[in-house]
Amino acid sequence: MDIAFIGLGQMGSGMARNLLAAGHRLTVWNRDPAKAEPLAALGATVAADIASAARVGAVITMLANDTAVEAVAFGESGLLAAGPGLLHVSSSTVSVDLTDRLAEAHAAAGQRFVSAQVLGRPDVATAGALAVIAAGAADDLDAAQPVFDAIGAGTQRIGDRPVMAAAAKIALNAGIPAIMQMLTEQFRIGAAHGIAPAAMTELLLATDYGNRLIRSYGPIIAEKRFEPAGFPMRLGRKDVDLALAAANGADVPLTELIARRMDAIIAADGGARDWSALGQ
Ligand code: NAP
Repeated sequence: MDIAFIGLGQMGSGMARNLLAAGHRLTVWNRDPAKAEPLAALGATVAADIASAARVGAVITMLANDTAVEAVAFGESGLLAAGPGLLHVSSSTVSVDLTDRLAEAHAAAGQRFVSAQVLGRPDVATAGALAVIAAGAADDLDAAQPVFDAIGAGTQRIGDRPVMAAAAKIALNAGIPAIMQMLTEQFRIGAAHGIAPAAMTELLLATDYGNRLIRSYGPIIAEKRFEPAGFPMRLGRKDVDLALAAANGADVPLTELIARRMDAIIAADGGARDWSALGQ
């Protein structure tokens, strides 16, 4: 399949590599062109601009936040200006409002749009083992399935409106800092009585708590390995805001508490460390 990939950050560069490894013909574009060079060395074509990438016909975006996706989609010579037929697969974690606006604007332009959210940190992206949560029209999801197969270990189709994948991802991400906060407090209670955090992690994994999130974040928090950041606190804070907005006024006190703790940490250290620094 001919695919263009826009956004070669920590996640996007691994995803793009796996598309190449799966045999797809890949065109890449990144705002900072230096990040495209390793992909070019592996055989990707580097597009001169977003409009050239859009001419490929199927475009995946993996960008930092709403502002970045708005710039790439709605900007002059952006994806929406590329003419009818384009398929846009949006994998960035962005707001439900922007996702709805994109769905409307792409439809008005005669283009196709799906949200394909991914779960997993950059090492999982590099391994091609992301969990993909996809939503959109069934035909469009079928068209994008080869992309999902190359980047992920499995795809969950959650609905026929792209916003459903955005909301699902936001809800799932709101739970991760809650689990990190839980781990932090469990470690503190154990440590107050001589139980090392590593022993506490083993105990959690051997009991009903055992799950992949504990396996991933338990050792990071136990060893206070907050750098290098797989997912910086600043980006994590963005996702907590997305969750507060997506709740549409429903009562979400745990999410509000996490937002306040993250704000305090970002005010103290700038937020460049991993979001697991909740357990500092
Ligand atoms: P990242 O390493 O910071 O990469 C961000 C990408 O966005 C870079 O390619 C950057 O380009 C681009 N960008 C930022 N602002 C832009 C703008 N105004 N115009 C054009 N491009 C812009 O972030 P990441 O960790 O790959 O995350 C990407 C997305 O995936 C985010 O929405 C994040 O929430 C989500 N996510 C992250 C993880 C994780 O564990 N890291 C897991 C799942 C989902 P430059 O290189 O030019 O700065």
